[in-house]
Amino acid sequence: MTAKILDGNALAQKLRADFKTRAEALAARGTRPGLAVILVGEDPASQVYVRNKVAACEKAGFHSEKIVYAPDVAPQVVLDRIAELNADPKIHGILVQLPLPKHFDSDAVLEAIAVEKDVDGFHAENVGALMQGQPRFIPCTPYGVMKFFEEAGVDLKGKEAVVIGRSNIVGKPMAMLLLHAGATVTVCHSQTQDLLFHTRRADVLVAAIGKPKFVTAAMVKPGAVVIDVGINRLPDGKLCGDVDFDGVKEVAAAITPVPGGVGPMTITMLLANTLEAAERAAQ
Ligand code: NAD
Repeated sequence: MTAKILDGNALAQKLRADFKTRAEALAARGTRPGLAVILVGEDPASQVYVRNKVAACEKAGFHSEKIVYAPDVAPQVVLDRIAELNADPKIHGILVQLPLPKHFDSDAVLEAIAVEKDVDGFHAENVGALMQGQPRFIPCTPYGVMKFFEEAGVDLKGKEAVVIGRSNIVGKPMAMLLLHAGATVTVCHSQTQDLLFHTRRADVLVAAIGKPKFVTAAMVKPGAVVIDVGINRLPDGKLCGDVDFDGVKEVAAAITPVPGGVGPMTITMLLANTLEAAERAAQ
Protein backbone atom coordinates (compact mmCIF):
# COMPACT_ATOMS: atom_id res chain seq x y z
CA MET A 1 0.00 0.00 0.00
CA THR A 2 1.24 3.49 -0.76
CA ALA A 3 -0.25 6.09 1.53
CA LYS A 4 -2.23 9.10 0.47
CA ILE A 5 -0.10 12.16 1.15
CA LEU A 6 -1.95 14.74 3.23
CA ASP A 7 -0.74 18.00 1.74
CA GLY A 8 -0.47 20.70 4.42
CA ASN A 9 0.46 23.43 1.95
CA ALA A 10 -2.64 22.84 -0.17
CA LEU A 11 -4.96 22.69 2.84
CA ALA A 12 -3.33 25.79 4.35
CA GLN A 13 -3.78 27.69 1.10
CA LYS A 14 -7.45 26.77 0.92
CA LEU A 15 -8.15 27.83 4.50
CA ARG A 16 -6.09 31.01 4.27
CA ALA A 17 -8.05 32.15 1.20
CA ASP A 18 -11.22 31.87 3.29
CA PHE A 19 -9.62 33.74 6.21
CA LYS A 20 -8.56 36.53 3.89
CA THR A 21 -12.13 36.97 2.70
CA ARG A 22 -13.42 36.97 6.28
CA ALA A 23 -10.72 39.46 7.34
CA GLU A 24 -11.67 41.79 4.48
CA ALA A 25 -15.34 41.62 5.46
CA LEU A 26 -14.44 42.42 9.05
CA ALA A 27 -12.12 45.26 8.02
CA ALA A 28 -14.95 46.74 5.93
CA ARG A 29 -16.93 46.90 9.17
CA GLY A 30 -14.05 48.73 10.89
CA THR A 31 -12.05 45.92 12.55
CA ARG A 32 -8.82 44.69 11.02
CA PRO A 33 -7.59 41.53 12.79
CA GLY A 34 -4.34 42.26 14.61
CA LEU A 35 -1.67 39.94 16.00
CA ALA A 36 1.30 40.89 18.20
CA VAL A 37 4.20 38.46 18.27
CA ILE A 38 6.80 38.79 21.01
CA LEU A 39 10.23 37.27 20.55
CA VAL A 40 12.84 37.28 23.32
CA GLY A 41 16.38 36.39 22.32
CA GLU A 42 18.08 35.29 19.14
CA ASP A 43 17.26 31.60 18.76
CA PRO A 44 17.51 31.04 14.98
CA ALA A 45 14.54 28.62 14.78
CA SER A 46 12.35 31.03 16.80
CA GLN A 47 13.39 33.90 14.52
CA VAL A 48 12.24 31.90 11.48
CA TYR A 49 8.92 30.94 13.14
CA VAL A 50 8.21 34.56 14.11
CA ARG A 51 9.12 35.85 10.66
CA ASN A 52 6.79 33.29 9.04
CA LYS A 53 3.93 34.14 11.40
CA VAL A 54 4.20 37.87 10.73
CA ALA A 55 4.49 37.28 6.95
CA ALA A 56 1.39 35.04 7.00
CA CYS A 57 -0.55 37.76 8.83
CA GLU A 58 0.40 40.38 6.30
CA LYS A 59 -0.52 38.13 3.39
CA ALA A 60 -3.93 37.48 4.93
CA GLY A 61 -4.55 41.22 5.32
CA PHE A 62 -4.11 41.23 9.11
CA HIS A 63 -2.36 43.94 11.09
CA SER A 64 0.73 42.54 12.82
CA GLU A 65 3.36 43.77 15.23
CA LYS A 66 6.66 42.06 15.86
CA ILE A 67 8.23 42.96 19.19
CA VAL A 68 11.78 41.77 19.72
CA TYR A 69 13.78 41.86 22.97
CA ALA A 70 17.42 41.10 23.73
CA PRO A 71 17.97 37.73 25.47
CA ASP A 72 18.84 39.45 28.78
CA VAL A 73 15.76 41.70 28.94
CA ALA A 74 14.14 41.98 32.39
CA PRO A 75 10.94 39.88 32.50
CA GLN A 76 9.01 42.87 33.89
CA VAL A 77 9.66 44.79 30.66
CA VAL A 78 7.94 42.02 28.70
CA LEU A 79 5.09 41.77 31.23
CA ASP A 80 4.51 45.55 31.00
CA ARG A 81 4.38 45.32 27.19
CA ILE A 82 1.87 42.47 27.39
CA ALA A 83 -0.30 44.63 29.67
CA GLU A 84 -0.23 47.40 27.04
CA LEU A 85 -1.13 44.95 24.27
CA ASN A 86 -3.97 43.54 26.40
CA ALA A 87 -5.48 47.04 26.38
CA ASP A 88 -4.71 47.84 22.72
CA PRO A 89 -7.87 47.67 20.57
CA LYS A 90 -5.81 47.14 17.37
CA ILE A 91 -4.48 43.86 18.78
CA HIS A 92 -6.77 40.81 19.01
CA GLY A 93 -4.13 38.13 19.44
CA ILE A 94 -0.91 38.07 21.48
CA LEU A 95 1.67 35.35 21.04
CA VAL A 96 4.90 34.91 22.98
CA GLN A 97 7.32 32.72 21.05
CA LEU A 98 8.55 29.84 23.20
CA PRO A 99 10.96 28.83 24.58
CA LEU A 100 11.78 31.90 26.68
CA PRO A 101 15.26 32.38 28.18
CA LYS A 102 15.92 30.57 31.47
CA HIS A 103 15.52 33.66 33.70
CA PHE A 104 11.84 33.87 32.66
CA ASP A 105 8.93 32.18 34.40
CA SER A 106 7.19 31.08 31.19
CA ASP A 107 3.92 30.24 32.95
CA ALA A 108 3.76 33.73 34.49
CA VAL A 109 4.28 35.27 31.05
CA LEU A 110 1.56 33.13 29.46
CA GLU A 111 -0.83 33.91 32.34
CA ALA A 112 -0.25 37.65 31.78
CA ILE A 113 -1.89 37.48 28.34
CA ALA A 114 -5.59 38.39 28.41
CA VAL A 115 -7.58 35.16 27.95
CA GLU A 116 -9.56 36.61 25.04
CA LYS A 117 -6.28 37.46 23.21
CA ASP A 118 -4.46 34.19 24.01
CA VAL A 119 -4.47 32.87 20.43
CA ASP A 120 -1.98 30.10 21.25
CA GLY A 121 -4.45 28.78 23.84
CA PHE A 122 -1.71 28.29 26.47
CA HIS A 123 -3.25 30.35 29.31
CA ALA A 124 -4.34 28.04 32.16
CA GLU A 125 -7.94 29.23 31.83
CA ASN A 126 -7.97 28.38 28.13
CA VAL A 127 -6.32 25.02 28.80
CA GLY A 128 -9.11 24.31 31.31
CA ALA A 129 -11.79 25.32 28.82
CA LEU A 130 -10.30 22.95 26.24
CA MET A 131 -10.26 20.16 28.81
CA GLN A 132 -13.96 20.76 29.51
CA GLY A 133 -14.72 20.53 25.81
CA GLN A 134 -15.56 24.23 25.44
CA PRO A 135 -12.37 25.72 24.05
CA ARG A 136 -12.03 29.46 23.57
CA PHE A 137 -8.88 28.89 21.50
CA ILE A 138 -7.52 25.53 20.37
CA PRO A 139 -3.69 25.37 20.39
CA CYS A 140 -2.60 25.87 16.81
CA THR A 141 -0.62 22.69 16.09
CA PRO A 142 -3.21 20.15 17.30
CA TYR A 143 -5.94 22.33 15.77
CA GLY A 144 -4.15 22.02 12.42
CA VAL A 145 -3.90 18.25 12.86
CA MET A 146 -7.68 18.04 13.41
CA LYS A 147 -8.18 19.91 10.14
CA PHE A 148 -6.31 17.13 8.31
CA PHE A 149 -8.77 14.56 9.67
CA GLU A 150 -11.69 16.75 8.66
CA GLU A 151 -10.30 17.32 5.16
CA ALA A 152 -9.47 13.64 4.61
CA GLY A 153 -12.88 12.53 5.92
CA VAL A 154 -11.40 10.51 8.79
CA ASP A 155 -14.18 9.74 11.26
CA LEU A 156 -12.46 9.51 14.65
CA LYS A 157 -15.41 8.02 16.51
CA GLY A 158 -14.45 4.71 18.08
CA LYS A 159 -10.95 4.77 16.54
CA GLU A 160 -7.85 3.81 18.48
CA ALA A 161 -5.75 6.99 18.53
CA VAL A 162 -2.20 6.98 19.86
CA VAL A 163 -0.29 10.19 20.52
CA ILE A 164 3.45 9.94 21.11
CA GLY A 165 4.51 12.93 23.21
CA ARG A 166 2.86 14.64 26.18
CA SER A 167 3.97 18.27 25.89
CA ASN A 168 1.62 21.09 26.86
CA ILE A 169 1.75 22.58 23.38
CA VAL A 170 1.22 19.45 21.27
CA GLY A 171 0.74 16.05 22.92
CA LYS A 172 -1.71 16.90 25.72
CA PRO A 173 -4.08 19.18 23.76
CA MET A 174 -3.90 16.73 20.83
CA ALA A 175 -5.04 13.89 23.07
CA MET A 176 -7.88 16.02 24.41
CA LEU A 177 -9.13 16.93 20.93
CA LEU A 178 -9.04 13.30 19.79
CA LEU A 179 -10.92 12.29 22.93
CA HIS A 180 -13.60 14.92 22.33
CA ALA A 181 -13.90 13.67 18.74
CA GLY A 182 -14.81 10.20 20.03
CA ALA A 183 -11.51 8.34 19.70
CA THR A 184 -10.12 6.02 22.36
CA VAL A 185 -6.88 7.77 23.17
CA THR A 186 -3.54 6.52 24.47
CA VAL A 187 -0.75 8.98 25.23
CA CYS A 188 2.76 7.53 25.04
CA HIS A 189 5.89 9.26 26.26
CA SER A 190 9.54 8.74 27.17
CA GLN A 191 8.64 6.43 30.06
CA THR A 192 6.21 4.24 28.12
CA GLN A 193 7.29 0.62 28.57
CA ASP A 194 6.15 -1.05 25.37
CA LEU A 195 5.72 1.63 22.76
CA LEU A 196 5.39 -0.85 19.92
CA PHE A 197 2.40 -2.53 21.59
CA HIS A 198 0.56 0.79 21.56
CA THR A 199 1.59 2.12 18.16
CA ARG A 200 0.86 -1.17 16.37
CA ARG A 201 -2.81 -1.01 17.32
CA ALA A 202 -3.29 2.68 16.42
CA ASP A 203 -5.80 3.51 13.68
CA VAL A 204 -4.58 7.08 14.04
CA LEU A 205 -1.00 7.76 15.11
CA VAL A 206 0.28 11.24 15.95
CA ALA A 207 4.03 11.63 16.49
CA ALA A 208 5.23 14.68 18.47
CA ILE A 209 8.53 13.54 19.87
CA GLY A 210 11.36 15.62 18.42
CA LYS A 211 13.45 12.64 17.26
CA PRO A 212 14.21 12.25 13.54
CA LYS A 213 12.55 9.26 11.82
CA PHE A 214 11.73 7.70 15.21
CA VAL A 215 8.52 6.02 14.02
CA THR A 216 9.38 3.20 11.62
CA ALA A 217 7.15 1.09 9.37
CA ALA A 218 7.34 -1.82 11.85
CA MET A 219 5.64 0.37 14.48
CA VAL A 220 2.65 1.22 12.30
CA LYS A 221 -0.57 -0.75 11.85
CA PRO A 222 -1.27 -1.31 8.14
CA GLY A 223 -3.89 1.18 6.98
CA ALA A 224 -3.30 3.68 9.80
CA VAL A 225 -3.46 7.45 9.41
CA VAL A 226 -0.09 8.85 10.48
CA ILE A 227 0.42 12.49 11.41
CA ASP A 228 3.99 13.71 11.81
CA VAL A 229 4.28 16.81 13.99
CA GLY A 230 8.07 16.62 14.39
CA ILE A 231 10.44 19.13 12.87
CA ASN A 232 14.06 18.02 13.07
CA ARG A 233 17.12 19.29 11.29
CA LEU A 234 19.49 16.61 9.99
CA PRO A 235 23.29 17.09 9.90
CA ASP A 236 23.04 17.83 6.13
CA GLY A 237 20.72 20.76 6.91
CA LYS A 238 17.56 19.08 5.58
CA LEU A 239 14.35 18.99 7.62
CA CYS A 240 12.71 15.74 8.58
CA GLY A 241 9.88 14.63 10.83
CA ASP A 242 9.59 12.14 13.66
CA VAL A 243 8.33 9.54 11.19
CA ASP A 244 10.44 7.58 8.73
CA PHE A 245 8.35 8.86 5.84
CA ASP A 246 9.74 6.59 3.09
CA GLY A 247 9.17 3.40 5.07
CA VAL A 248 5.87 4.34 6.74
CA LYS A 249 4.20 5.54 3.55
CA GLU A 250 4.32 1.94 2.31
CA VAL A 251 2.24 0.77 5.30
CA ALA A 252 -0.05 3.67 6.22
CA ALA A 253 -3.28 4.65 4.46
CA ALA A 254 -2.47 8.36 4.80
CA ILE A 255 0.51 10.35 6.03
CA THR A 256 1.65 13.96 6.43
CA PRO A 257 5.07 14.83 4.97
CA VAL A 258 7.76 17.01 6.58
CA PRO A 259 8.15 19.68 5.39
CA GLY A 260 4.76 20.55 3.89
CA GLY A 261 2.51 18.81 6.43
CA VAL A 262 1.66 20.01 9.91
CA GLY A 263 4.05 23.00 9.80
CA PRO A 264 2.04 25.21 7.40
CA MET A 265 -1.17 24.23 9.20
CA THR A 266 0.14 25.51 12.56
CA ILE A 267 0.53 29.03 11.22
CA THR A 268 -2.79 28.75 9.41
CA MET A 269 -4.61 27.96 12.65
CA LEU A 270 -2.88 30.90 14.32
CA LEU A 271 -4.55 33.04 11.68
CA ALA A 272 -7.85 31.26 12.38
CA ASN A 273 -7.61 31.99 16.10
CA THR A 274 -6.63 35.63 15.55
CA LEU A 275 -9.51 36.10 13.14
CA GLU A 276 -11.93 34.51 15.60
CA ALA A 277 -10.64 36.76 18.38
CA ALA A 278 -11.16 39.81 16.15
CA GLU A 279 -14.65 38.68 15.14
CA ARG A 280 -15.59 38.21 18.80
CA ALA A 281 -14.16 41.64 19.71
CA ALA A 282 -16.17 43.24 16.90
CA GLN A 283 -19.45 41.75 18.10
P1 NAD B 1 8.77 18.21 23.72
O1 NAD B 1 10.24 17.98 23.74
O2 NAD B 1 8.16 19.17 24.66
O3 NAD B 1 8.03 16.80 23.93
C1 NAD B 1 8.50 15.63 23.34
C2 NAD B 1 7.73 14.48 23.88
O4 NAD B 1 8.23 13.28 23.31
C3 NAD B 1 7.83 14.32 25.41
O5 NAD B 1 6.53 14.30 25.97
C4 NAD B 1 8.52 12.99 25.61
O6 NAD B 1 8.00 12.26 26.70
C5 NAD B 1 8.28 12.28 24.30
N1 NAD B 1 9.36 11.36 24.01
C6 NAD B 1 10.69 11.62 23.97
N2 NAD B 1 11.37 10.49 23.72
C7 NAD B 1 10.48 9.49 23.60
C8 NAD B 1 10.58 8.11 23.35
N3 NAD B 1 11.76 7.51 23.19
N4 NAD B 1 9.44 7.39 23.27
C9 NAD B 1 8.24 7.97 23.45
N5 NAD B 1 8.08 9.29 23.69
C10 NAD B 1 9.20 10.04 23.77
O7 NAD B 1 8.42 18.56 22.22
P2 NAD B 1 7.13 19.28 21.55
O8 NAD B 1 7.21 20.73 21.81
O9 NAD B 1 5.89 18.53 21.88
O10 NAD B 1 7.49 19.04 20.02
C11 NAD B 1 7.61 17.75 19.48
C12 NAD B 1 8.12 17.87 18.06
O11 NAD B 1 7.17 18.58 17.30
C13 NAD B 1 9.42 18.63 17.89
O12 NAD B 1 10.13 18.07 16.80
C14 NAD B 1 8.98 20.03 17.55
O13 NAD B 1 9.94 20.74 16.79
C15 NAD B 1 7.77 19.72 16.72
N6 NAD B 1 6.76 20.78 16.67
C16 NAD B 1 6.26 21.07 15.44
C17 NAD B 1 5.28 22.00 15.30
C18 NAD B 1 4.74 22.26 13.94
O14 NAD B 1 4.18 23.30 13.70
N7 NAD B 1 4.87 21.29 13.02
C19 NAD B 1 4.80 22.69 16.41
C20 NAD B 1 5.31 22.37 17.67
C21 NAD B 1 6.29 21.39 17.78
